Amino acid sequence: MILVLQKKSSQECVAAVCARLRELGLTGQVMHTAAGIVVAILEDCSHISSHQLTKIPAVVKLIRLQHQASIATSAIIPHVELNNGLRIGEGLAPVIMAGPCSVESQSHIVQSALKVRDAGAKVLRGGAFKPRTSPYEFQGLGLEGLQYLDDARKASGLPVISEIMGPEHVALAEPLIDILQVGARNMYNYELLKELGKSSHPVLLKRGLSATISEWLNAAEYIMSAGNMKVILCERGIRSFETETRNTLDLSAVAVLKKSCSLPVIVDPSHGTGRRDLVRVMSRAAIACGADGLLIEVHDFPQEALSDGHQAISSDELKEIVQDAQRIFAAVNPAPLPASSSSNQDLSMASSRF
Ligand code: PEP
Ligand code: MN
Repeated sequence: MILVLQKKSSQECVAAVCARLRELGLTGQVMHTAAGIVVAILEDCSHISSHQLTKIPAVVKLIRLQHQASIATSAIIPHVELNNGLRIGEGLAPVIMAGPCSVESQSHIVQSALKVRDAGAKVLRGGAFKPRTSPYEFQGLGLEGLQYLDDARKASGLPVISEIMGPEHVALAEPLIDILQVGARNMYNYELLKELGKSSHPVLLKRGLSATISEWLNAAEYIMSAGNMKVILCERGIRSFETETRNTLDLSAVAVLKKSCSLPVIVDPSHGTGRRDLVRVMSRAAIACGADGLLIEVHDFPQEALSDGHQAISSDELKEIVQDAQRIFAAVNPAPLPASSSSNQDLSMASSRF
């Protein structure tokens, strides 16, 4: 259920609406959207009459949500902005996020940050909580890993993204990282999604291993209906019968999402293929079909990597991918670019050939 409030409702009015909802046993999540102020009610309100809600002062309209993922598919999210002003979204230069699969040590993640920054990445990735298929594989450094990511962001100036696996990780991670990642195995972890809905941090929501696009958008709906509109979707390949690649990278999902919602969509060609020899070509394809960025695993000594070394590319190859992405973006977006608030809009390489 969505309550649309009068345009320019004061903070006191909005607070009064929330207080009345509490009296009715409901929780209101206030959202400031392009269309004005709306209050989303997560709980089932089938027992509350429309009149009880429309008579609340400042409420001008009531929308009962009948379709699934209504907010995820109808909210206008022109871009998601990070704390440093970097914007990710439709029509903006693609944002490349890169780094090792796992945070391995403080010095390794700091060195990796400097290398990916110098190669042109705008966000550092690194897993501290690792959801491994086998319990006998490296499980990540946990909180210590998040602290090393904070060290790496201070050393490099890059914002950082890392996966969190449970609702209790959200508060731990917020001071140490910039984007909270939901991994493919946790796309259905509804308690985690609800907790992320209360965060003011951007959330990168990976597609579940066998999730349909509709299930994926409903996972986004959990986060957005709980109040956090800063959701970035990430296609990372789905399970199929094919065995030549680790997963089947579903680039058609990017095109479908671009028609059905306005959320930024990025592509992870590393997990999407599981093969370093395919990362560059699939990165090119991802940008050509409209992805707003890439999430790429990089390790300069992949044979020593604690996880996913077989799909890690070198920082030299990353540099080539960053340049490809700029050129392909310029080729498929010939219109003039909107004004920039950050260096991710720098397309000075755009006119050279790839
Ligand atoms: C990752 O990005 O580190 C990761 C584990 O990816 P996924 O959740 O897509 O498997
Ligand atoms: Mn990995």
